[in-house]
Amino acid sequence: MTSYDVVILGAGPAGMAVAAELAGHVRVLVIERGELARTHATWYSYADRVRDHGLDDAVAFRTDHVLFRSPNYAHEMKDDCVVVDHRRVLETWLGRARAGGVEFVQASYQSHRSDTRGVVVRTSLGDFRARLIIDCTGPNSPIVRAENLILRKDAWVLRGARVRLPAGRYEPHIAYYPLNDDANTYVGTHPFSATELNVYVFQGQYDTLGDPATLQALFDKTLATEFPGAEIVEPLGGTIVSGVLKRYALRRVLFFGAAGMMNPEAIGMGFNEVLRQVRSFAKGVRGALASDRLDARSLERVAMSVRDRETMYFQRIIGVFSLHFIRSEAKWDGGVRWLNLLGEDSRFWMRNELSLEWIRRATLKLHRAVPLHEAVKLIPVGDFAFVGGQLARFAALTIARLAREWLAGIVRRSDKAG
Ligand SMILES: Cc1cc2nc3c(=O)[nH]c(=O)nc-3n(C[C@H](O)[C@H](O)[C@H](O)COP(=O)(O)OP(=O)(O)OC[C@H]3O[C@@H](n4cnc5c(N)ncnc54)[C@H](O)[C@@H]3O)c2cc1C
Repeated sequence: MTSYDVVILGAGPAGMAVAAELAGHVRVLVIERGELARTHATWYSYADRVRDHGLDDAVAFRTDHVLFRSPNYAHEMKDDCVVVDHRRVLETWLGRARAGGVEFVQASYQSHRSDTRGVVVRTSLGDFRARLIIDCTGPNSPIVRAENLILRKDAWVLRGARVRLPAGRYEPHIAYYPLNDDANTYVGTHPFSATELNVYVFQGQYDTLGDPATLQALFDKTLATEFPGAEIVEPLGGTIVSGVLKRYALRRVLFFGAAGMMNPEAIGMGFNEVLRQVRSFAKGVRGALASDRLDARSLERVAMSVRDRETMYFQRIIGVFSLHFIRSEAKWDGGVRWLNLLGEDSRFWMRNELSLEWIRRATLKLHRAVPLHEAVKLIPVGDFAFVGGQLARFAALTIARLAREWLAGIVRRSDKAG
């Protein structure tokens, strides 16, 4: 049986990026059940992140803003944004991985078992031996399911297409806005070229992994009314899952990407998280392999080293509030008001680059955007203790900081007087 240091399950953006980063360092096999370099997603990202990863050739569209609209408000989030050609991104990573000796097989993961020498991965094409599995199988990870690891989950369910539009009929924007229907459906647009647009409808769903096929009829109707004359080039869609796992690693198994619930809640943006985290993650993996620390506790440390707890807590609060925004009669008005109150700061939320000071400011603004008596009515009962506890903790941190500043002021004044 062929033996590897790492078997990566799944060749979506997470699996491909890890394979490209590990290439040339350790022996890697990638097991993908579908065709390589194929996905039905569309990715908006940031010029600096894409450049840092040498993916400039994959940029399909550049802009300096993202538009958020709700029935009564609009927010223009300023940033150097790009839409990338998802196939070119995956093909670039595939080329780098192959050049560094990574092997690929088209097979479906079925199960695995550990023994004293490592782990044996059973697939539809036979068995492979490895020291470590990195599970990048996305929202429906068979390992996460079999081990019953999900503590909490919610999903953006998306269905759409790349379409060709009659020239000059549409102003290209990366934009998100509600359809104002009873099901609280939203429309997302990612311009792709002068005449092509990636467009999809999406819904926020709670405690489910969702089923994009249920949105097909709604997408067809929306396309006909919002973009008359559009011609479908290729279908798009999928589920962006975020949430909380009981554990982010098992003995000889690490999760990365959507399988590890790495999409920031409410934002989604799983491709962006891959770009943000993959280098540190791959470094942690190489360290764990070099020291042969592949037990559950050591691997959990690797998984957590790319996550910031304060950021996770805060995005979870926003996730809970966004559910409130989605369900409320005002259809995202509260959310867009909050973005307007954040002003130039809003881009850090979408980038998931949050400092403690930013979190403090954003929490105070959240209180202003959503009156407490409204929030109380709409936050799901199961999340109430968490949100209440976190908001109280942020309030305590703010009071402690103000008290420290006040004391420091007294000390400075008495030093001067002395
Ligand atoms: C329409 C749409 C728009 C989006 N927009 C953005 C955006 O603008 N910006 C952004 O950052 N993110 C965006 N996302 C989210 C992003 O695409 C996902 O978060 C990302 O694809 C997750 O990557 P992944 O590699 O973890 O999982 P996936 O992309 O789901 O890849 C998992 C891979 O594992 C394979 N696999 C599954 N099971 C098995 C098995 N048993 N054996 C072998 N292989 C298996 C699958 O075939 C697949 O190739 C969007 C997603 C969609 C659908």
